[in-house]
Amino acid sequence: MQQLITGIIASPGIRIGRAYVYHGSNLIIPKYTVEPGGVEEELGRYNRALEKTKNDIQSIREQISKSLSRDMADIFSSHLLVLEDPMITEKVIRTIREERRNVEWVVNDISMDLIQGLSSIDDVYLRERIIDISDIHKRLIGNLQKTGAPALPDLDEEVILFATDLTPSDTAMMNRKYVLAFVTDTGGRTSHTAIMARALDIPAIVGTINGTSMVQDGQTVIVDALRGKIIIDPTAEEIEEYNRYREDLVLLDAELAKLTHLPATTLDNEVCHIYGNIEIPEEMKMIKEHGAQGIGLYRSEFLFLDRALPDEEKQYLAYKKVLEFFKPMPVTIRTLDVGGDKIYAYNKTVKERNPFLGCRAIRFSLENEPLFRTQLRAILRASIHGNTRLMFPMISTVEEIIKSRNILYQTMDELRSEKKEFDPDIPIGIMIEVPSAAINADRLAEHSDFFSVGTNDLVQYTIAVDRISEKIAYLYNPLNLSVLRLLRHIVDASRKHEVPLSICGEMAGEPLYTIPLLGLGFRNFSMGTAFMHQIKRIIRSVKIHECEELVDEMMKRDVTGEIEKVLLDYLGQKFPAMLF
Ligand code: PEP
Ligand code: MG
Repeated sequence: MQQLITGIIASPGIRIGRAYVYHGSNLIIPKYTVEPGGVEEELGRYNRALEKTKNDIQSIREQISKSLSRDMADIFSSHLLVLEDPMITEKVIRTIREERRNVEWVVNDISMDLIQGLSSIDDVYLRERIIDISDIHKRLIGNLQKTGAPALPDLDEEVILFATDLTPSDTAMMNRKYVLAFVTDTGGRTSHTAIMARALDIPAIVGTINGTSMVQDGQTVIVDALRGKIIIDPTAEEIEEYNRYREDLVLLDAELAKLTHLPATTLDNEVCHIYGNIEIPEEMKMIKEHGAQGIGLYRSEFLFLDRALPDEEKQYLAYKKVLEFFKPMPVTIRTLDVGGDKIYAYNKTVKERNPFLGCRAIRFSLENEPLFRTQLRAILRASIHGNTRLMFPMISTVEEIIKSRNILYQTMDELRSEKKEFDPDIPIGIMIEVPSAAINADRLAEHSDFFSVGTNDLVQYTIAVDRISEKIAYLYNPLNLSVLRLLRHIVDASRKHEVPLSICGEMAGEPLYTIPLLGLGFRNFSMGTAFMHQIKRIIRSVKIHECEELVDEMMKRDVTGEIEKVLLDYLGQKFPAMLF
């Protein structure tokens, strides 16, 4: 029977193939006590397995560094840090000595405690580190039993791989010839597995919760990692529709060379710009190949995922790399946005009742000034290596931007006195992603060199709907009239006060919304690569007055479903071959 699974897009693409369900190898943990005279031998076994595991991880790291990149290899450096964590090692040794239990038993208990501790924490970033711990754990236990780490079986045909979870090393070592795409029950966009999939360009959907239990080996599946859905046992029509769509995408890719260098200009010569959003430096190559005119949003959170805070030098090098790559095109670096669903490891002591309404983004940076200053120094120092723009996330009051700018100016003075170079004219912009900022856009204009609208948060805060809650996902709709009205208000304020405006939430990267956004007055779009070409194609095939008329017609309706219908009817007529 046909079924539909939904999940989070970890890496974009569309694939059709046969399911292969990987149940993982069940680790068998022997449990026994050792004689007092056997304790030293047990510790010896632990040390040898630890060494072997370190060597294994080091060799994966080297392999990834050669085949992919240093940044991806760094994921395994963080595994080494966990493995070498003296607190964990001491605890294992002490428990073996005191309780005289065999090492597999002790290691397993300690790992499970760590995993349980992480899984009870209410934040996505931290929970996503569970898979890293489990990767290390499996490898260590495998080495204790001399069976080696459990690995994905050798494949000899093309499959869509389904698994409860995949470790970063499973993903890194995946046979890309045969794994067309993968789907996991756990994980999110920022898990190391997802990041690895993006870097390897394997379409992937994660976080399906129970996807694995809904599919059987050999069933035909369509993985639509452009919309985050998996169709199990699709009908012949659906396969045909998707094949046509894929062919269309392939054709589009074939036209790519032409399209890449063509401007994003409407039929009536209104010039638009398409920029890319990046989370990891690996994404920049693809973004450039898709013809983006720079980076509209460089989320700097990736640098802060691991246990150790990135120092100024590490950050400086990361920003410099992206800036040099895109030079002379602009790169908008956003300062750290943690909190909400993005609390990072060293902030785990503070558990907030409403994290999304709490100490998030710029609020966190202003609370943690030394960390903020380090990031600003790194961005400023990197600014001479390209066309740099600096952006503050989640500004909700005028005070915040004033305060942030003052800290920035102090940092500039500091660098001047140290005779360190930076771009003193670096444009300083803000994200408009909170209703208070949208409403006060005219007042914030005075303090901002540019605005970038973050619809992911703007929708959540306007409709008061948690952006990651599945239960009320039906409410999360950017076409809600209140959102469209706020967007119109922001455009009016930016025009009146001549503040350059762009939009970088997911809404900007979905073809469904391109025409309404043009109609509202947006001209600068920043997005991932998934729909970059389609969006350029849409922009190049419309006239602005058509878009304005359409959005006016939409905004005459009150009910979101009706607003959507007006839009879909229009798109169905104008682009009959496109899937929206
Ligand atoms: C947004 O809120 O739309 C945005 C781009 O920021 P993030 O998704 O990183 O919160
Ligand atoms: Mg946001």
